Amino acid sequence: MGNVHELGFLREKIEELKEQGVYRQLPVLAGGNDPEIVLNGRKVINLSSNNYLGFANHPRLKRAAIDAIEKYGAGAGAVRTIVGNMTIHEELEEILAEFKREEAVFIYQSGFNCNMGTIQAVTERGDLILSDELNHASIIDGVRLSRADKAIFRHGDMNHLEEILKTERDKYKNILIITDGVFSMDGDIAPLPDIVELAEKYGAMTYVDDAHGSGVLGESGRGTVDHFSLQGRVDFTMGTLSKAIGVVGGYVAGSKVMYEWLSHRARPVLFSTTMPPSAAGAIIEAIKMLMETTEYTDRLWDNAKHFKEKMNALGFNTGNSQTPITPVIIGDEGKTMEFSRKLLENGVFVSGIVFPTVPVGTGRVRCMVTAGHSKEQLDQAVKVFAKVGREMGII
Ligand SMILES: *Cc1c(COP(=O)(O)O)cnc(C)c1O
Repeated sequence: MGNVHELGFLREKIEELKEQGVYRQLPVLAGGNDPEIVLNGRKVINLSSNNYLGFANHPRLKRAAIDAIEKYGAGAGAVRTIVGNMTIHEELEEILAEFKREEAVFIYQSGFNCNMGTIQAVTERGDLILSDELNHASIIDGVRLSRADKAIFRHGDMNHLEEILKTERDKYKNILIITDGVFSMDGDIAPLPDIVELAEKYGAMTYVDDAHGSGVLGESGRGTVDHFSLQGRVDFTMGTLSKAIGVVGGYVAGSKVMYEWLSHRARPVLFSTTMPPSAAGAIIEAIKMLMETTEYTDRLWDNAKHFKEKMNALGFNTGNSQTPITPVIIGDEGKTMEFSRKLLENGVFVSGIVFPTVPVGTGRVRCMVTAGHSKEQLDQAVKVFAKVGREMGII
């Protein structure tokens, strides 16, 4: 009998991954997350990051982070409810609330934490959570941690959502409808006006995960709620500070009473140290930049349009994307991974995404266009797509 500490049971599972062809090494980046990166020792065009606005490595954010370290130190030193709540964290919440045009904003250490902590804190036994089938893993985990019942509605299917509301409304105290604002694997936008209307009709609450909408959609990146002019009508608008905003952290925007309750009951805030002051400082700078000008978001959309048009003209299938997230749908899992490998050999890094992250038979490489890319870099990437696509009989 083998020693249990040799973790033979994990070794067996890893062998299975290798047999299925889905085992991988973590890519290693030498330097910042830029439009061109040095990956595993080679310079390539980066079409895989969520650094939509090029803020992750922006001089103004770096300067603000350094200034915050000088003033507050490298770490917050405690959870927020004890002595880890600094003036810079309060300033961050204030500027985010102003930016989002909502009453209050409550911050977390990450978007993942925000979904896990908020969903659990605002629901209880006797409640029902209705969740879109394509919602993000952090929502799924938040729902699992909640004592409420759950039901899944088909992706963006308002008839299905209403059917469930109709039959279940009277059996529960509160109902919470949760949807991504922008769906991360397809780049489509949730039918938020319809969801809000149904919620109002049936007396349900709404929760939007805007990880891929914040910094991207709406006026100067104010998000999906702003895009549809629904401020004040969505109970919980979650956003991440790690994608377009370029740093790390998450938040939920809503009412003052939401803020009061979360500051007493959100477990990631009660039991985990506050985000470092350097992160808060850099994010404040990022929000100021977005409030000063639409230049960053304009460039992002211009680049996304440029890239998508060229890819469609070549005959690639970019699905239902309405945002800078540009999936190139291949279908077969093995072929998808091979396509991604060959693109990399030719100098373009685009990660392949297959089951179980997306449904079987819908494998894709997901291109993330950013404001930081030059037109030359995008055109070079398109050229590589055309070459590899033709070699593999995809176009
Ligand atoms: C990335 C992502 C999150 C998690 O945000 P982090 O700040 O990276 O933890 C949550 N929801 C969605 C839809 C995401 O894409």
